[in-house]
Amino acid sequence: MPSAFGAAAGVINPVTGRWMTKTWNFDQVLPEAAKTYRAIEQKFDIQVYHPIPEIRFCQNAEDLKRVGRRMRNPRYQDVLSHMAATGEAAPEFNDDFGTFRINQAAYVDLPLVVHTLRASFATLGRFRDETFLHSELKPGTTGWQYRGLHADKVIFCEGAAMQDNPWFKNLPLKPAKGETLLCHSPTLRLPQKLYHHKKWFLPYPDGNFRIGATYDESDLSDAPTQAKKDELLTAAHEALKKPHQVDVSAHLAGIRPSTIDSRPIIGAHPNKLGLYLVNGLGSKGASTAPAMTQQLTEHILKKSPINDEVNLTRFN
Ligand SMILES: Cc1cc2nc3c(=O)[nH]c(=O)nc-3n(C[C@H](O)[C@H](O)[C@H](O)COP(=O)(O)OP(=O)(O)OC[C@H]3O[C@@H](n4cnc5c(N)ncnc54)[C@H](O)[C@@H]3O)c2cc1C
Repeated sequence: MPSAFGAAAGVINPVTGRWMTKTWNFDQVLPEAAKTYRAIEQKFDIQVYHPIPEIRFCQNAEDLKRVGRRMRNPRYQDVLSHMAATGEAAPEFNDDFGTFRINQAAYVDLPLVVHTLRASFATLGRFRDETFLHSELKPGTTGWQYRGLHADKVIFCEGAAMQDNPWFKNLPLKPAKGETLLCHSPTLRLPQKLYHHKKWFLPYPDGNFRIGATYDESDLSDAPTQAKKDELLTAAHEALKKPHQVDVSAHLAGIRPSTIDSRPIIGAHPNKLGLYLVNGLGSKGASTAPAMTQQLTEHILKKSPINDEVNLTRFN
């Protein structure tokens, strides 16, 4: 079963991919994400939302030209800045083609969010830590019955496991496995920035840092693999200018519930009254989950329409 903690990085990245494309709907989803995580922080007196400067390394001369063009594009002016010459911005890294800054990046302590919310729901008697069996969910005279529970509405948020959901399995997920390493080094101290070389490095205040992530659509098991560990460590050593001992303290794997059009899938089942879905968050759950759950909640409670771009009806 995919783990909610598999990714554990929760980076909110305004610009993605080799083509440096602005993240889908970023201007709408980011404020909702920031508002949600700040509200969780306040309610539970914890810190989970960490804005962080992101340094992105150009990998070749074409990247350099592309980022120059992007920086002249008004749509990108709030997220790209600080082009720096080779070696200026992050001296710890090999940097043959210069860097630029991605603004409005952040990381979210997702394990802490999930643990805190689960504990809070458990205290209220509203959380059961068990495997949900779809075969035991039955329609009642009104709503749905499940092992002694009655619910008017059931919202499935099960990530890539949706492929085993009898009511929603036909929606086109394109899951992709990813692995990350939690590391420490006796010699490497990185300033608190997110570094995006071929792989990303995320230093934590305690001196540990995370390296990620791999991408694999062929192996969808949830077990970490030696091959991907080697891939990440090789990329880390190649990115760093000096040789450093890098010790791995945790190796995690998870499945990104990606979709064929790279957009979330939310909404009501077309003919099973009371069944709903939030899925397809792909590699962007930290930024998109708050806006998507808000949109579905308003649909359920206030009957507001769901945006066609994310509505599951687009696959009818
Ligand atoms: C390596 C990696 C790096 C990533 N990095 C980032 C990043 O930096 N930023 C970002 O925004 N996103 C990132 N992601 C993506 C992010 O993790 C996903 O978008 C997000 O986890 C999707 O959330 P979800 O709740 O829809 O699904 P999931 O996180 O998969 O959660 C689904 C949950 O449902 C549970 N479940 C499923 N079926 C059942 C059942 N029958 N009974 C009980 N429980 C069940 C699963 O165990 C799981 O806990 C990354 C993902 C990976 C794998």
